[in-house]
Amino acid sequence: MSPLTIVMYHYVRDLARSRYPGIKGRTLEEFDGQLDYIQRHYTVVTAADVVAASRGGHPLPRGACLLTFDDGFLDHFTVVFPRLLARGISGAFFPPAVAAEGRRVLDVHKIHFILAATHDHVALAARVIDLIAAHRRELELPTTEALKAEYWRASRYDPAEIVFTKRVLQKGRGIPTGVRTAVVQTLFEERVGVDEAVFARELYMDLAQLRALAGSGMEIGGHGVEHRWLDELSAEEQRIEITGMRAFLAGVHGRLPTDWLLCYPYGAYDAITLRLAGDGGAALGVTADAEKDLARTLDAPLRLPRLDTNDLPLHGDATPVAWTLEALNVSRPASVAAR
Ligand SMILES: [Zn+2]
Repeated sequence: MSPLTIVMYHYVRDLARSRYPGIKGRTLEEFDGQLDYIQRHYTVVTAADVVAASRGGHPLPRGACLLTFDDGFLDHFTVVFPRLLARGISGAFFPPAVAAEGRRVLDVHKIHFILAATHDHVALAARVIDLIAAHRRELELPTTEALKAEYWRASRYDPAEIVFTKRVLQKGRGIPTGVRTAVVQTLFEERVGVDEAVFARELYMDLAQLRALAGSGMEIGGHGVEHRWLDELSAEEQRIEITGMRAFLAGVHGRLPTDWLLCYPYGAYDAITLRLAGDGGAALGVTADAEKDLARTLDAPLRLPRLDTNDLPLHGDATPVAWTLEALNVSRPASVAAR
């Protein structure tokens, strides 16, 4: 069967004219260009099409592509939704429950805005180290040297000092969640300094907006209640997260979800997650697996890899990249061969 390409988006906004231009996301022009590219080379399918195909129903078309949008950002309502509607295509949206209902800002997003509000990221990393050190009196925590040895390294997208701050605050090994949350909160107040409820209102969609998306043919799926790393939770804690996601989706749709989509926060899951997700009626699970970027078959519908938006061109007339060619099962595109 033809591979399915699932593209993953987060922030999509007019970055240059936003309050935090340092946020990593797609600009409006880039998003429009990428939709042009995708519509030129792929066939955008709905979540329901994928569920049906995964059950042996109507097979997916060649170059099938599912668009996904994580984290329930207001961008998805103001920027993405009208563009998808205008093009007559649909997408799947994954809001964490506490963001949409609780009007709280998730730690993972506080970290993004702390970084975006900061010019000197080396000084920020030093501040992170100091704030963690303040907890050493009451807790046994990894040494600064150990943290630096593990996390001070550049990634594909960020210099070492930014990777350090992100990783230590997101998932620093040996640093309890309570300590990380306290450090993030202090930095959010110091660097961003906006009331959390106000910030949440400007950052996330609310239930009414999610219902408008769902009512217009968009898919709303689960993305955790608290956006936690599911693979770090006990079976009971995972069960509570999955039950909570179902209850949240029931609140959006007015009925308990059947054949719903689950997007694992941070792409993290384990064998327990897969069992609980299946038992809880999830039909598809999308990961953040960046290594196997194409879903070659739908044999493992709860472990579908996704392609990061950064791996696709930003203009409709761009030469197709390897991912696109593989997804189309062609070695050279007709447009190139004809030249
Ligand atoms: Zn997320």
